[in-house]
Amino acid sequence: MSNKPLPILPGQTLGILGGGQLGRMFVTAARTLGYRIAVLDPDPDSPAGRIADLHIRADYTDAAALAQLAACCAAVTTEFENVPAASLIALATRCRVAPGADAVAIVQDRAREKSWLAGHGFATAPFALIEDATQVDAALATTGAPAVLKVARLGYDGKGQARVDSREDARAAFHAFGGVACVLEGWVRLEREVSVVLARNDSGECACFPAAENRHTNGILDVSRVPARLSPELARAAETQTRAIADALAYVGVMAVEFFVADGRLLVNEIAPRPHNSGHYTLDACLTDQFEQQVRALCGLPLGATRLLSPVAMVNLLGERWQHGEPAWGKLFAQPNVKLHLYGKTAARPGRKMGHFNVLDADVEAAQQLAESLRDAL
Ligand code: AMP
Repeated sequence: MSNKPLPILPGQTLGILGGGQLGRMFVTAARTLGYRIAVLDPDPDSPAGRIADLHIRADYTDAAALAQLAACCAAVTTEFENVPAASLIALATRCRVAPGADAVAIVQDRAREKSWLAGHGFATAPFALIEDATQVDAALATTGAPAVLKVARLGYDGKGQARVDSREDARAAFHAFGGVACVLEGWVRLEREVSVVLARNDSGECACFPAAENRHTNGILDVSRVPARLSPELARAAETQTRAIADALAYVGVMAVEFFVADGRLLVNEIAPRPHNSGHYTLDACLTDQFEQQVRALCGLPLGATRLLSPVAMVNLLGERWQHGEPAWGKLFAQPNVKLHLYGKTAARPGRKMGHFNVLDADVEAAQQLAESLRDAL
């Protein structure tokens, strides 16, 4: 790692691997603070690349592109977990990289992630690893049915997942995923799903944002509301566990932990080594948002205040909203407590995250109701 002194102050250039919406919001936050930004993403039309100072259009494994990024940046981060760990290692020989390759390598592979969590004493759904077809039956015996089969690598937003109710289902699903390494998880009767976004800096200082309560539809986040309906004990436990995970990973940067609430207890579902969709509420409802926090942690700055300024509901806008043309944005702009965020994506495919909006209200129930009715009316 380079020995550029910390903190890295405004005026310097920061880099990010990945140019999707998370990268775009990082670029916006960094620019607001006066940094210059370089984005590495092969897509010539990437949402972050389009608003960056420099867009290097190359593959994430392209050695020359990584060298170019490292040469112009004081520090580099990532917006997605599937960035090749080898690329982070290569970058880290030349410039500061956060989060580090070790942490990303664990959480980008569900099998490693689940084993790591269990090995560190964090409760998860019952699970078993499957590397070849001969292990399917024993795995199902461990988890019981129903269960959910998840590919270990490169799955996201419910992709690479199948619910299975029998040995035949499990075998067929494993086969349908191409026989790649998978995790089989027992099906959890969810009371709720919550997530905590946390930032941690080099000195081990941590700041958690208030837990969000999340509802998914077809495996994709649909609505988050904050405060979450959690007892004070569970809310504290979610924060404590998130900090403990970050400490054990020696994590530097922003990360999110998704939890299931079942039988009154928390089970860790997964860790994301980056800002998280369920943290988008912080853009309008917290003094510091998760992307500014990502800049601060990356630059070795003190972390900002994470207090909730207002109850809030966040709704995702997926590509299907565009099926009859551009949504009726006037309905959102007519509401003074609604904040719209669009990612500048041109092709509105079903399931693609195109934007989100936040509704602020003193009553979180009212915020959620207005958010859902506005979304349906778009
Ligand atoms: P994941 O990609 O693992 O976050 O899964 C996407 C969504 O599928 C979760 O947010 C849950 O709503 C649901 N899900 C995943 N795993 C399980 C499970 N073991 N039991 C019940 N629901 C699950």
